[in-house]
Amino acid sequence: MIKTVYFFSFGLFFMLQTSVLIAAVGSEEKKQLDLYFAKLKTDVNLGNTLQTMSYLTELRALAISQNAKEVEIESYFIEAMIKRRYGAYADGVKLNHYALELAKSVGNEEYIAWAYYHLAHLELELERYTLALDYIQHPINFYVNKNAERAALMYLWQSKIYLTMGSYYQALKANKDALQIISPSMDIHLDLAVNLAQIELKLGNTKDAKTALGLVNVEKLNGSKARLKLQYYLASANSHLQTGEFNQAIEIALIQLEKPTSLRFLDEQAQLQYLIAVGYSQLGEHKLAYKYLKRYSLSNDALSLQRRNNKVLQLESHYKFDLQNQKLELLGKDNTLKEQRLAQQEQAFTNHRLQQQRWVLGAILLLSIVGFVYWRWQNQRYLVVLKQRVNERTQELAKSNERLKAMSFTDSLTDLHNRHYFFSVIDELLIDFNSPPINTERQRLVFALIDIDKFKNINDTFGHNVGDQVLEQFSNILRQQIRSEDLLIRWGGEEFLLVIKNVSYCEAEQIAETLRSVVANHIFKLNNDESLNVTCSIGFACYPLLATEPDLYNWEQIIELADGGLYLAKENQRDAWVGIKAGNSILHHQSKEVVKNYRAHLVQQTLHASTNIERTLNY
Ligand code: GH3
Ligand code: MG
Ligand code: MG
Repeated sequence: MIKTVYFFSFGLFFMLQTSVLIAAVGSEEKKQLDLYFAKLKTDVNLGNTLQTMSYLTELRALAISQNAKEVEIESYFIEAMIKRRYGAYADGVKLNHYALELAKSVGNEEYIAWAYYHLAHLELELERYTLALDYIQHPINFYVNKNAERAALMYLWQSKIYLTMGSYYQALKANKDALQIISPSMDIHLDLAVNLAQIELKLGNTKDAKTALGLVNVEKLNGSKARLKLQYYLASANSHLQTGEFNQAIEIALIQLEKPTSLRFLDEQAQLQYLIAVGYSQLGEHKLAYKYLKRYSLSNDALSLQRRNNKVLQLESHYKFDLQNQKLELLGKDNTLKEQRLAQQEQAFTNHRLQQQRWVLGAILLLSIVGFVYWRWQNQRYLVVLKQRVNERTQELAKSNERLKAMSFTDSLTDLHNRHYFFSVIDELLIDFNSPPINTERQRLVFALIDIDKFKNINDTFGHNVGDQVLEQFSNILRQQIRSEDLLIRWGGEEFLLVIKNVSYCEAEQIAETLRSVVANHIFKLNNDESLNVTCSIGFACYPLLATEPDLYNWEQIIELADGGLYLAKENQRDAWVGIKAGNSILHHQSKEVVKNYRAHLVQQTLHASTNIERTLNY
């Protein structure tokens, strides 16, 4: 498997180095060397390696005589390659060691690297993998920062060594190292893709193997890549086999087997035969399977024979023990790599989960904040609406309270204030009235009680409805006669209380007379087009009773005296008024007693009455 690639890469190296070598020697000798190199080049390219041997001996002799070390080194490389082609591995190793020693002596780093590269190949053929790995590390180190394509070639071979050893993860890593440093346009990329597919197939990753093969445009591989092409198809057939597509796998393998080129590559040939045998066996074609298994066995034998040619068997026994140790060590390394990969995957998974948890937590937090803000905003909005509603309700309530209050203070029939209203304002009225203190005759508060005469008769004669109409019209007459600051109260039934501010007793007499006469002269119009004459009687008294002693008689006592006056007016005549005021020596009597026995005090003239009644009043 390794030989042809080695051969062609050697050819490439050989051509690259030629001009450098020739420049190092004299002109005559140069011509001679030139000739040998030209012949060598032709023979190497044609694969005529046996013919090359004769030139090679002359070339080396010339090089030694002229002390052209590089040419001598080249000659060893070529001879080793030829020996190797014919299975003389031990000779190949020996010759490459000569080349290595010589390269070291002249300090040519590139030749040193190249010698190690050849040695790695040989050791791989001899299945001495530790050595092969050791050797390939040198050219890797040398080329890694100098020449990407060459470094990739070395990694590729490192990967191939690992693959042959069964250290698939190491092989994968080396292949990856190579892919990382090259560009896809480089030829080596194809080798790496096929190699990767082979590794993935070994790992059972058929899908990845197919992906890797997809990177190779197989039809574009030219003649010099014949083996790579074969390996490509082998990998492709294997991938079909692994996915159970046995017919396709067999078909691909058969086509490749029939090609003459496959005969050159015994290793791949054997693998194709084995693959076909497995395929047929899976399909139940046991006869065909057996046929190919037999062919495989023959190819494999030939291969083994080639490998074990010469002294290989002896060498093998020497290194068997080493090999086992080596395999164990590598298995350990491989396991470590596997563990690392698993740990990395686990870590990545944990990180991913943590990240997910973080996102979920973040989302919950954000939602909570948004929810809280929304809740607060709604609450505030609701509060504003609530406050507005409360204000509206409060205003409505205040209004209805006002209305209620007005209703409770107003008499519905006459629209005048009622007794409740009077009681609610009288104290305030007196405070206003008492300040500043009363000291003139004019500053008096007159309480006059006005009662309709014989009202019961009106009700009895015309009915309550007419009585109500009379009450309404009577109230209106009184209302028209008083000033805005005076108080007119419906005291009860057909009785009214008039409170007149800032008038003298004399003026009160005149007001009483005016009211009496206006009522008496008024014609009350009824709904049934009838009309009526109504009279009223009035009793009044002034507060304070004594200007000098304003606190002696309270307003309740003054109203009682006014009521006394009303009684006298009714008893003596009706359609009349009687006013009561203080007489001489009133100060000698208790106010309570005076009010209670007002009639006796009128006789004694402790109290005085004035009236519009022309005859003497009966008390
Ligand atoms: P006097 O001259 O002595 O005052 O006689 P009077 O009939 O007016 O007095 P009395 O107290 O005997 O009768 C008053 C009547 O007034 C009794 C009652 O039925 C009537 N009255 C009281 N309030 C109303 C009212 O709102 N509407 C009507 N139609 N009648 C009322
Ligand atoms: Mg009456
Ligand atoms: Mg009455």
